[in-house]
Amino acid sequence: MRLLLALPFAFLANPAIAQDKPDPTRLKASVEKLVSFGTRHSLSDPDNPTRGIGAARRWFGAELSKIGDQCNCIEVANIARGFTGPRAPNGVNIVDVLGFQAGRDPKRVLIVMGHIDNRVSDAMNATSDAPGANDDASGVALVLEAARILSREKFDATIVYAALSGEEQGLYGGQLLAETAKERGWTVTAVLNNDIVGNTLGQNGKTVADRVRVFSEGIRASETLDQQLARRADGGEDDGPSRALAKAVDHVASAIPGGLDAVVARRPDRFGRGGDHEPFLKLGYPAVRITVANENYDAQHQDLRTENGRVYGDTIDRMDFAYLAKVTAINVATLRRLASAPAAPEGVSIGGALATETSVKWQPVAGAAGYRIRWRRNDAQDWTDQRDVTGTSAVLPVIVDDTFVGVSALAANGTESLVTFAGRERK
Ligand SMILES: [Zn+2]
Repeated sequence: MRLLLALPFAFLANPAIAQDKPDPTRLKASVEKLVSFGTRHSLSDPDNPTRGIGAARRWFGAELSKIGDQCNCIEVANIARGFTGPRAPNGVNIVDVLGFQAGRDPKRVLIVMGHIDNRVSDAMNATSDAPGANDDASGVALVLEAARILSREKFDATIVYAALSGEEQGLYGGQLLAETAKERGWTVTAVLNNDIVGNTLGQNGKTVADRVRVFSEGIRASETLDQQLARRADGGEDDGPSRALAKAVDHVASAIPGGLDAVVARRPDRFGRGGDHEPFLKLGYPAVRITVANENYDAQHQDLRTENGRVYGDTIDRMDFAYLAKVTAINVATLRRLASAPAAPEGVSIGGALATETSVKWQPVAGAAGYRIRWRRNDAQDWTDQRDVTGTSAVLPVIVDDTFVGVSALAANGTESLVTFAGRERK
């Protein structure tokens, strides 16, 4: 009885736990600040001290620096490149503001991001007021809040906190960061693209406050047709890196008390639309788009106006910050787990045609204390069986024709990486 009474006090006395929860008030303050820049259009004046995308980017960088100063653990560094395209015919200097929280391994990277740019009805209008509260100040505010929480902890992998530019002009900031990852030789463990994560009242008048969508690709954008045809025989279309990440987010979310149900949406993005995770998928990195369950189209890419009593515009009053805090909590918990775990295994292959057992083997992972073999009947979507081992091969008592197999790497404390799906051996 004494012990039971003592527990709540122990909980309150631990500042790490007490400060652990994303704060709706702080998230709202960040969105208000971002809206205060008038417009954050990518073609707006980058040098104006108070209005436009430059002022917004400088504020975000300064906020990240403040967090970094407190922990002495986040380094802010921008990347930039000129882009020209249909929505930037005269060229535009795209700047991504990045904060690096170095882990034990500086080359293994997790990215949590939103886009700081926005737009109104005309994608070329760089001067009209464009609040972009939900699209995507919500995502940028989430990134800052995640940094505030996770900067108090230490991880095996490096976390990159990113505010991207040029999303509305052609996913330029996503392309810039994805190509930077490739150029710098990062092992990208996860990309969490948060874009429109802060409303619960949808276009249909219904409020959906208990779930969030996590979009992931099945067919891999990074593979050629020949590679896809070779993979076709494995039946791994529900288990690629992006889908494995989405499933991990779902599992993490389900363990958060009072949290949201993460819907593993089996599409790269919403129908006919895209986002900044796409350039990462093209390069083969595990990436998902996290977005609200019920969108309000009157509050996306709209000139601020009222027509026939109908109000248009992406304004703060249409947002739900308690909900945004819950989406933030899912990001934080996912980053915490995957940055603490080793990298996912590579070269995971199975054998066992015309046999009564299935063999599985993989390449060793640096820093892994062990591995978890997972399997399931191949009419199921979630792993049902598992076995922990310390070697890099095993034989399972199942028929290969009827079974999907995957392998994850385990940290010394048991934290699990993403699961790599086992296919035929590829040389
Ligand atoms: Zn957006």
